[in-house]
Amino acid sequence: MQTADVVIVGAGIVGCSIAYHLTAAGCRNVLLIERESALGKGSTGKSMGGVRAQFATPVNIRMSLYSIPFYAGFEQRLGYPCDYRPQGYLFCATSDKQMAYLRANYAAQVLLGLKEVRLLSGAEISTMFPGLRADDIVGGSFCSTDGFVDPYSAMIGFMTGAADHGATLWKSTRVIAIVRDQSGIAGLDTTRGTVATRNVVNCAGAWSADVAALAGIQLPVEPLRRMLVPSEPFSEFPHAAPMIIDMSNGFHFRPEGRGFLLAWNDPEEVSGFNTDFDDRFIEKILTRAADRVPCFANLPVNPKRAWAGLYEMTPDHHPILGKAPGVQGFFLANGFSGHGVMHAPATGKILSDLILTGKTDLIDASLLSLARFEEGRLIHETAVL
Ligand SMILES: Cc1cc2nc3c(=O)[nH]c(=O)nc-3n(C[C@H](O)[C@H](O)[C@H](O)COP(=O)(O)OP(=O)(O)OC[C@H]3O[C@@H](n4cnc5c(N)ncnc54)[C@H](O)[C@@H]3O)c2cc1C
Repeated sequence: MQTADVVIVGAGIVGCSIAYHLTAAGCRNVLLIERESALGKGSTGKSMGGVRAQFATPVNIRMSLYSIPFYAGFEQRLGYPCDYRPQGYLFCATSDKQMAYLRANYAAQVLLGLKEVRLLSGAEISTMFPGLRADDIVGGSFCSTDGFVDPYSAMIGFMTGAADHGATLWKSTRVIAIVRDQSGIAGLDTTRGTVATRNVVNCAGAWSADVAALAGIQLPVEPLRRMLVPSEPFSEFPHAAPMIIDMSNGFHFRPEGRGFLLAWNDPEEVSGFNTDFDDRFIEKILTRAADRVPCFANLPVNPKRAWAGLYEMTPDHHPILGKAPGVQGFFLANGFSGHGVMHAPATGKILSDLILTGKTDLIDASLLSLARFEEGRLIHETAVL
């Protein structure tokens, strides 16, 4: 029978980062199990690739303060590129309340050691990007080390790094049961046979509640469709632009290739596994795009190139990390609520620490435990895009 020290269920960017961090820390007998025939078919391959430290809560800021420098040094450390582009995130406030919110976030970010973030006046934003309609922009915040990565490359880099250190990947293999004995986890059944192990990490993304249920755990993670619209080549707005967020309605965009990638969180979405792209979204998003960036009225878009994927939402928009209560050896790395790519490096380190040593210095892991929901310790993140 196959045995492993740690089995990781799901080989998206989170599972691959955990495998990399475990093997880098000396735990060689790691097995990743992925039901698809190729990596990246879950949310990772659909992501916008944004990475930012501009969050509201200390725990999210701390996770970014590990992850973004990690991405900056990714190629040097792993020998594979992740295409980190530090073009920044620019939040544009259109009311004094939003500006006060950005100011409070800025204070928290600086207190935790973020050096590259600054507050801007409306006039400064207008000068930086004359193509924005700025008549209602009262100010904003900008962080130059925020930016983008290529999620697929980062995932493959983590997986290759893990494999170089001894990890094994089973593709086209579905985990169908989790076996328990008096001590806790004893193994799992897969479509490729049984594996004996004392440690299982649930990294099944939007499907993680189903995997947790196999171990008798109820996980408050729900899938939510998220659509992105890429434009055709377009040169009337600068390609060195950051991710720009219109806080009046949540519309945001960034340069992508020779065009732009447009995103907006449609409040009409309801939770579910639907990943069909809805053509009606094009008009909704282009209306908001042209309202903030007048030249986007001419933005050429081909609906056939647009796509949809799934966010994995928790009630407080923070991930659920660490030991599952009551099942010895069952670990959770789920519910990233749209931040799983940017927080994959920190998650890999935190889970590797918790599995190998039972503790981590990177964050206070109890803040993100599953128990917080039962104990009413929710920590709401409001800077969610
Ligand atoms: C449109 C869109 C835009 C996004 N933009 C950003 C962004 O800008 N920045 C950011 O940080 N995040 C973003 N995200 C979120 C990010 O993509 C996710 O948080 C992240 O990819 C989650 O990674 P994961 O490895 O947990 O999940 P996934 O990549 O979904 O991987 C989970 C894997 O588990 C496998 N699996 C499930 N069940 C089983 C089973 N029973 N047995 C075996 N395998 C199984 C699945 O096949 C899948 O490959 C975006 C997401 C979407 C959809």
